[in-house]
Amino acid sequence: MLVILEQGAVPFCSYENPHFHTPGEPRWIATDLLTRFARLAKRNAVSATVLFGRNRPPAALERLIDSIEHSKIVPLELERTYPEAIVVVDADERERFGELHDSLERNMILRVHKAKGVSGLVEALLGKFRRLSLHLTNTEYFTQADYAVYEDELGRIAKVLGAHYRNGGAAELNVLSDRMMLKEMRNCGAGADHITLAPNGRLYICPAFYHDDAASFVGAFDDKKPPNRLQAVELNRAPLCSRCDAFHCKRCIFLNRKTTAELNVPSEQQCAVAHIEREASRRLLTDLGALEPFRRMPRIPELPYKDPLECIDLPPRAGDPASDPML
Ligand code: SF4
Repeated sequence: MLVILEQGAVPFCSYENPHFHTPGEPRWIATDLLTRFARLAKRNAVSATVLFGRNRPPAALERLIDSIEHSKIVPLELERTYPEAIVVVDADERERFGELHDSLERNMILRVHKAKGVSGLVEALLGKFRRLSLHLTNTEYFTQADYAVYEDELGRIAKVLGAHYRNGGAAELNVLSDRMMLKEMRNCGAGADHITLAPNGRLYICPAFYHDDAASFVGAFDDKKPPNRLQAVELNRAPLCSRCDAFHCKRCIFLNRKTTAELNVPSEQQCAVAHIEREASRRLLTDLGALEPFRRMPRIPELPYKDPLECIDLPPRAGDPASDPML
């Protein structure tokens, strides 16, 4: 489960949390609620991913977090306090990247708000992570021009990563590395593999839903039993996604709802971005050729299309000559 520790928790993927940028006293999750969550977690072997804001939590909350199996997601401000945590950095913090300690072990998240310049940001962070998860925000507004820029930026990153691997490096970047290693869909999993507990005691598909609209909860926290999976977001109920092989795609449920008003129907932009990444991964893998361990990874087939919607056989419309059963 994901636990939002305070209202101003860091946004860790493509959504926004306005409270993260609002000065003022942090509004922490109640100690009683976190105590009940810790009890449930221990009883049912539930592990937690805890989302921190800019402030170190009070000692009582910290003790409760430490009493359960967990990982921490923190903003740059808490990076030195919790050096083992997953740190979220934002493209707007480029000037502060130098503050991050070097590491070949940790996971890091990079949020960027436009495709242009992504390669420079990734290159600037190389040496500070083992795995970097890149999250583009605003993809719902992407145009053909943005796709072309993103394609170009990924090509640049692939060159940098290729050189890094040939020098013995092992850094991973989600949008290029994951598709190489996956044999089936491995998406964000919000609502199916994890659910979010917010400071108000309610459950959400993911933190994006809570920060966007606190009324969009899917249940109330019950310390007697872990929450059920939401069947409405499962892959086998997504006809388009279950036939797709962009296995690394986030399949962002929040973006789906925002763009198509359906939890399990992706937007054109989500499919296009995932396929640009798939193609960049395919090219990088081909380019790495016989290099270990890449030579043992199954090649990614080339696709004759960029947008999977092109492959859907739509039923002929009434009036089309092809719809006339006599022809
Ligand atoms: S559904 Fe997943 S990818 Fe989308 S905003 Fe929520 S956590 Fe992020």
